[in-house]
Amino acid sequence: TVLSSPQIVERYLGYFRGHGHYELPSTPLAVPGNSTSFIIAGMQPLLPYLRAETLPPSPRLSSVQRCLRTDDVEAVGSNDRKMSAFLMLGNWSIGEYWKREAIVMALEVLLQHLEVERERLWVTVYAGDESLGLPGDDEAINEWLRVGMPNERIVPLGSEDNLWTMGDGPGPCGPSSEIFVDRGVALGCGRATCRPGCDCERFMEVWNLVFMQYERHADGSLTTLPQRNIDTGMGLERIATVLQGSESVFSTDVFLPALERLRELAPEQEGEVRRTRRMIVDHMRAVLLAGLVDVRPGRDGRSSVVRRLIRRAARQGRVLGLEQPFLGELLSPLAAGHDSLLTSQEHSHVQGLVQVVTNEERMFSRVLTQGLSLLEHVEANEQGYVDGRVLFQLHAERGFPADLAAEILVERGLSIDWQRYEQARQQHSQVSRVSVKTHFQSS
Ligand code: ATP
Ligand code: MG
Ligand code: MG
Ligand code: MG
Repeated sequence: TVLSSPQIVERYLGYFRGHGHYELPSTPLAVPGNSTSFIIAGMQPLLPYLRAETLPPSPRLSSVQRCLRTDDVEAVGSNDRKMSAFLMLGNWSIGEYWKREAIVMALEVLLQHLEVERERLWVTVYAGDESLGLPGDDEAINEWLRVGMPNERIVPLGSEDNLWTMGDGPGPCGPSSEIFVDRGVALGCGRATCRPGCDCERFMEVWNLVFMQYERHADGSLTTLPQRNIDTGMGLERIATVLQGSESVFSTDVFLPALERLRELAPEQEGEVRRTRRMIVDHMRAVLLAGLVDVRPGRDGRSSVVRRLIRRAARQGRVLGLEQPFLGELLSPLAAGHDSLLTSQEHSHVQGLVQVVTNEERMFSRVLTQGLSLLEHVEANEQGYVDGRVLFQLHAERGFPADLAAEILVERGLSIDWQRYEQARQQHSQVSRVSVKTHFQSS
């Protein structure tokens, strides 16, 4: 039998409950008392415990946390794994169990409770970094070997992939070990060097185990933390992709009703770009989860993220030939796909968001139509660059977002001269400063 997303969550939490973990309630996606950011990882609400500032309810913790990341939103849809909003399953040890138990438990969950075939699992470990004075993580290698992971499937990677820090400055840090599932050679790049960390679709990172063991000081020196912690995160949609044999995270059970509705609205046509439908359902899912914590489209902070997601999705609708507002129609099917991943109270709030989304889409519709038709006539110079001033004008005079314009031009194979854009922006802000000043002086 194929596990649904809610069943995967149940098995995960059930396993860790059985192993003494206290299940933390999930934190609202929109961090209270901060208007700009969303939660980006399951560990974020646990920082006071991890830093030993507050005593946790138990040294063993678990949670399922809604996350939203916009660091890489342009990439969403162009590969099988990257979403804007996703659910992260996590388990933590606050100064209690260490690498051995973390690895044993992760493997037991995957093999016995989620029934992933052992042969499909690969792991990465920290290779160390001389320039930082950090040793390779032999301890993790030994623990993986001990539980039967073949040496060939333990891949050492450098600081970029397998060193966890909290930014560049001083603070806690430590090596990580990531678990990947082999989705088959057919999805690979075909190179002999293809392994986890390769950018192709063969290996999907599903779970990250972070071993917080060092404190990095201002002078670059390292000491061992008095309290060593384990921080893990598994992406629900990624493990669901593997277990459900889906083509991508965007076609797991959570998204099926929305994709179905979208096919009714815009039947699939030959030669479609795969990214289009993926972006629409991904972005609307993020809008739904944000809307459920009352983040509406708007100008500033988090609201502007929601606005941007709606606009990007609306534009992809045009690619499918949808000229009228349609995004609101996807909200109920999306909620239905989440099933018990949303509370019944949340399910009852979905209808109220439909109008909000539809209004936003309608407001943008004319700007979108105009901008798209103007962009059709934009041409590049001989080097293939579009004058960035064009994008600036489009934004300043017609309200068409420059990032959206750039994306459309890039899809046509053009590049943007952003220096020119920046020049125009600076000139414009000087001009408007001057005019504000004269206005006040004369009145
Ligand atoms: P990636 O390398 O794919 O960007 P990551 O290393 O940034 O992922 P982590 O910060 O380690 O991700 O997050 C823990 C887990 O959460 C990942 O192993 C993955 O399963 C999931 N995850 C992280 N980012 C995303 C995303 N953008 N979309 C879907 N799942 C994600
Ligand atoms: Mg990432
Ligand atoms: Mg990664
Ligand atoms: Mg990772």
